[in-house]
Amino acid sequence: MPILIVIFSIFVLAVVFGPQWWVRHVLARHGADRSDLPGTGAELARHLLDEAGLQKVTVEETDLGDHYDPEALAVRLLPQHHGGRSIAAAAVAAHEVSHAVQHARGEAGFARRYRLVKNVRWIMRIASAILILAPIVFAFVHVPILLVLQIAAGLLLMAISVAVHVVTLPVEFDASFGKALPVLARGRYLSVGALPAARKVLTAAAFTYVAAALATLLDIMRWFRLLRF
Ligand SMILES: [Zn+2]
Repeated sequence: MPILIVIFSIFVLAVVFGPQWWVRHVLARHGADRSDLPGTGAELARHLLDEAGLQKVTVEETDLGDHYDPEALAVRLLPQHHGGRSIAAAAVAAHEVSHAVQHARGEAGFARRYRLVKNVRWIMRIASAILILAPIVFAFVHVPILLVLQIAAGLLLMAISVAVHVVTLPVEFDASFGKALPVLARGRYLSVGALPAARKVLTAAAFTYVAAALATLLDIMRWFRLLRF
């Protein structure tokens, strides 16, 4: 039996952490600076935004992961993508600019995701609070309803994150392959030989959120373990 548990554990770890490891690996692999690239990720983002008529969208450096912030109207890039002259920097910059373009054009998929995330934010806060507080309260007052509430809150959080990802993935694929890749190819920002690598980075960029969500899945499971007291 123990061997089955080991195999099962490896399988779970691979499913949960594998995608995030893969995303990081792809970004790192194509993260080396190249002298044949005309500019940094930030410079390319600025250029593409200006070209799309989005002068009001700013380009900033962040440590919180590459993203587009529709409220602040900002494309934010990690230091290695902001200041780097790599295929990863160019592809990620083009991907995030594509989100700004989706936003500016009022594209339905982007709007749907934006609305959903905004509307479920308070539900997620309440459910998270229940998940954290229920076991603490239960330690003092043994009311079984608290455990039911905890399970319900956990399931609700999982259902919401699945729903968010179902509406997010098409938006991510449009950003990577509907917009960023054609722009990179057409504008000759990358040599033809670099396009297959850019395609890999754009795939990784599209799966970033799903991979990150999978990696936090075990955290939710940790809350379920607290049921055993
Ligand atoms: Zn994206």
